[in-house]
Amino acid sequence: MLVENRWKASRRPYHKQKLAMVLANLRQFALEQAERGVAVRHVGGDGLYSEILRPVIEELGVLKVMRPAEYELRADLRPLFESGGLQEVTHEGWLTTEEQFRDSHDGPPWRMDAFYRHVRRESGILMEHGKPVGGKFSFDAENRLRWAGKPHAPTLPTFKPDEITEEIDELVERDFARHPGTLRLDMLPATKGDAERIWKWAKKECLPLFGPYEDAMSVKSRNLFHTRISALLNLHRLTPAQILRDTIELEIPFASKEGFVRQVLGWREFMHHVHEATEGFRVVGGKKTRVAELPGDGGLAGWSEKEWPSVKGAAGGVDGGACPSQLGAKEPVPPALWGERSGLHCLDEVVKGVWDEAYGHHITRLMVISNIATLLGISPRDLTDWFWVAYADAYDWVVEPNVLGMGTYGLGDLFTTKPYISGAAYIDRMSDFCESCAFDPKKNCPITPMYWAFLERQRDKLGKNIRMAMPYRSLDKRSAAKKREDAKTFERVRERLRTGKSLVDAEEDEQQGLMS
Ligand SMILES: Cc1cc2nc3c(=O)[nH]c(=O)nc-3n(C[C@H](O)[C@H](O)[C@H](O)COP(=O)(O)OP(=O)(O)OC[C@H]3O[C@@H](n4cnc5c(N)ncnc54)[C@H](O)[C@@H]3O)c2cc1C
Ligand code: SF4
Repeated sequence: MLVENRWKASRRPYHKQKLAMVLANLRQFALEQAERGVAVRHVGGDGLYSEILRPVIEELGVLKVMRPAEYELRADLRPLFESGGLQEVTHEGWLTTEEQFRDSHDGPPWRMDAFYRHVRRESGILMEHGKPVGGKFSFDAENRLRWAGKPHAPTLPTFKPDEITEEIDELVERDFARHPGTLRLDMLPATKGDAERIWKWAKKECLPLFGPYEDAMSVKSRNLFHTRISALLNLHRLTPAQILRDTIELEIPFASKEGFVRQVLGWREFMHHVHEATEGFRVVGGKKTRVAELPGDGGLAGWSEKEWPSVKGAAGGVDGGACPSQLGAKEPVPPALWGERSGLHCLDEVVKGVWDEAYGHHITRLMVISNIATLLGISPRDLTDWFWVAYADAYDWVVEPNVLGMGTYGLGDLFTTKPYISGAAYIDRMSDFCESCAFDPKKNCPITPMYWAFLERQRDKLGKNIRMAMPYRSLDKRSAAKKREDAKTFERVRERLRTGKSLVDAEEDEQQGLMS
């Protein structure tokens, strides 16, 4: 039973590539199943899934569904579960159980490394005589090389569109024309064969060097040695079990193997458990949290001044998600995330990649976009909605923990020990972005003073965090005059970006002001 739902697709301003990815895979999957003799019912609809399915259940009787990972879908289907029309069965795609998550440690707070160690011990994966292969559970510390153009970064496989993908292209460009982003058919894996081809490419070209360059970023390659499988994994075109099994069998350096296993068996599973355990952070530590009434548009209306039509009305009984903001961040998403030039080359480059491809790898998401957003004080909910619409692999169960928790520290120490933030030095060390930026990371890049200003503003909330002791010691060595300058830079950057103005023009404005 496959439901193609217009309402779902226009609930938020999803990237065109993401819509095409979901729709093309859905149609191809329907055909593949029919071809192997499975009876397939493919229905279209424009509203709640529960409403679309009700008449089908009346006709066919009770339907079975694997527990959806998305909270939004579970909430939508709730009336059918309650009436017995739909029967939930365990989802077979996960590698770990809720019980393993609960048994891994007392929590909340939860920690990924405790969960990962527990699962490795219990499953025996990458274990030898009860001990981790290589003597330690994580080789993360060894995986921090900068990439300077060599070894050669793999070239992405491209895909030749067939009639289904072309049909989807037409559909998206016609019916979802107001959605943002570029639709690239040559970058759209849609069939089972396409998914297998990406994974084959990833095993050969990416995984041997995955570990050492895991944290590197470059203008020359948007994915470096990352595999680009997340969207396919989340759609279940590739199964985590297959990915894990193949990775374990590969003959590649152990730091790369362990690094990749930790992503799929550790982070991906952990994020899902945390989301499930809190109903998408609507209930944390037994207490209900504040939720948005309606789905957010990720700042689109603020930038384009056009309200996203589905935000009003068609809420469909499903709320707009939890709104934690441990650090009190409430700034709206700036136009820079919708493609207006900010003058911060790292940010502009990464954002361009996202609107071109609906993709960016982990470190660009964490240490460029989320880092700058956190330093600017952008609302975690609004930023999450932006990530949700902009990336092809985003669904509530995965985007919410990653942005509300990991990216912005909006959930405090619920499952991360400290905010992931940095000044320009980190970006300069791990990327080549700074080489072609109007700012100099060592002299006048505004990200560094913004970092200090952030620490100063958040002293009450972060000053006693043991993991933040070092940055606070350095902050204490800064003179009062420098701290005043930091605060001024922060105010100026926030003001310029809030109004969609480039910081580079600001430099020029200032110079002209001085000259006149
Ligand atoms: C702010 C932020 C937002 C993110 N939003 C999403 C999202 O909406 N959807 C999504 O799938 N991932 C998300 N991630 C996790 C991660 O960045 C992507 O899974 C990864 O970049 C996908 O690209 P890849 O397949 O080339 O990754 P690779 O690096 O090649 O592969 C690692 C695989 O491990 C899994 N993985 C690794 N880290 C995570 C994680 N933290 N959470 C879940 N899975 C993980 C993914 O399935 C990924 O495909 C986010 C991370 C951050 C910091
Ligand atoms: S100099 Fe600053 S703004 Fe420019 S790329 Fe480097 S970190 Fe980003």
